[in-house]
Amino acid sequence: MNIHDKYKPLTFWEKLYLPAIIAGIWLTSKHFFRNLTLHILRALRIRRSAMGAVTIQYPEFLRPLFPRLRTMHRLTKREDGTPRCVACMMCETVCPANCIYIIADEKLEDPQIEKMPKSFDIDLGLCIFCGYCVEACPEDAIRMDTGILEISNLTRNGMVLDMETMLNLEPRQDRYVKYTKEGDIVSQEYLKQSKSE
Ligand code: SF4
Ligand code: SF4
Repeated sequence: MNIHDKYKPLTFWEKLYLPAIIAGIWLTSKHFFRNLTLHILRALRIRRSAMGAVTIQYPEFLRPLFPRLRTMHRLTKREDGTPRCVACMMCETVCPANCIYIIADEKLEDPQIEKMPKSFDIDLGLCIFCGYCVEACPEDAIRMDTGILEISNLTRNGMVLDMETMLNLEPRQDRYVKYTKEGDIVSQEYLKQSKSE
């Protein structure tokens, strides 16, 4: 069956498109005037609890991230600076997007550790940020806590993360929301600013 066969033919009013356009304008206007009213009430201190929708001025202003969010990968290091990764290929095997490419090498200087990666690439253009690689790793050698979400690039090759880059990335805890002992969110700049208004 052709996929288009399951759609009913358009009615007269649907063909006109006018009702859909009017409905769209109505919905947008409703939100616009609702938010405008709430912001005015708040600015005039008539109703301080009124919270209209706000637009975050990205990228000048970054929204705090929640700790469970998976962000760009990094590779962890041993105390001597070598990768913790033992090139077991678990992450490459489990990756549903087939976007991890590891070439293993012998680790001659340490008889306790047989292998290490010669190269370790992740194609972020294919990655679906499922976190399976982190879960599967027996060495805690790969993490997704860099807080980096800005991964766009002008070329496909530019989307490939190499081992050197991943080894030099640090966790960006300042981008994450923090909690008090009571479990309340201690916000970062964005929420602090919102509260002080
Ligand atoms: S997050 Fe998922 S898709 Fe991305 S590299 Fe890891 S296992 Fe593969
Ligand atoms: S990152 Fe972890 S799972 Fe992947 S090859 Fe290295 S040790 Fe194995």
